[in-house]
Amino acid sequence: MHTRILIPLFASVLAMAALAGCDNTATTSDSSASASASDSAIATSVMTSSDSTAASSGASSSDSTTSSASASAVTDNIPRTDFPHNPATQLVAGSGDGYTDTSNWAPGICFPIAQTPDYADSQVYSPGGDHYPNTTHPTGSQCDTSNYAYPWRDNFCETRPQWANPMCTSGAGHQGQDIRPTTCKANMYWAVAAEDGVITQVGSYTVAVTGNDSPHRIFRYLHMQVASLKVKLGDHVVRGQKLGLISNNFGISNGVQQYTTIHLHFEVRIAQSETLPDGTVLAANAFVPPYTALVDAYQRKLAGDCPTVE
Ligand SMILES: [Zn+2]
Repeated sequence: MHTRILIPLFASVLAMAALAGCDNTATTSDSSASASASDSAIATSVMTSSDSTAASSGASSSDSTTSSASASAVTDNIPRTDFPHNPATQLVAGSGDGYTDTSNWAPGICFPIAQTPDYADSQVYSPGGDHYPNTTHPTGSQCDTSNYAYPWRDNFCETRPQWANPMCTSGAGHQGQDIRPTTCKANMYWAVAAEDGVITQVGSYTVAVTGNDSPHRIFRYLHMQVASLKVKLGDHVVRGQKLGLISNNFGISNGVQQYTTIHLHFEVRIAQSETLPDGTVLAANAFVPPYTALVDAYQRKLAGDCPTVE
């Protein structure tokens, strides 16, 4: 259904910075309450690449804990440990029109958080979010234990009418994937570089890494604690290198500090034009869905890939 010809979204780094906001929710204030992370559900078997492929067959769209692997065939022999996760494109019911492309847009990346476990899910349609359950008033706590438990949940293309995103069915939507770190605690868990690259943006709550190698993907990390940043514009970083701590920082508006939930918002953009199998042309710098790549990266991370670099 993606038949539009897309126009370039960004003309410069400055224009990119203008779009730094992602979650139209400043839901809960900083909370020091800690939720114990449940790791009891994690699958302990180590998957081989062939296991991973096999696991994707038989995934039922109604099975919320299916272990569907990425749509892209795994061609390496790197060990993977599976974990409970919903399939790519399966958003919280009623949270948006979603998207359809399940390609792995960033194969081989390092999972962007140093410590595990981590929990990809919606920040808006989950406890503590301002659309949970479909209300304009915050309900529950962001530290609810259900937010710190598997299965993972995709939230690329979640409803965000103000954010252009040609990959989304509606043409607008959430431009990345939200991931909660191990516990409900800000300024404790490290975001790390997904690939070897260069720091191409440092904002009031944002860091971007542009990969050295073709296709020079742009990875953007939002809601960073500025005081903890270990990198500056122009720095060269290696895969797995610490960038800064994950927080609930949503920048300053009219002199007032703004907060979101404690999470990393992680984006992947492609620095070159791409043509999808259905003929859709994606312009350079278009956002692409990170979920499939993140599932694969996390499976490798759980099996020992991507040691953290100071
Ligand atoms: Zn987000």
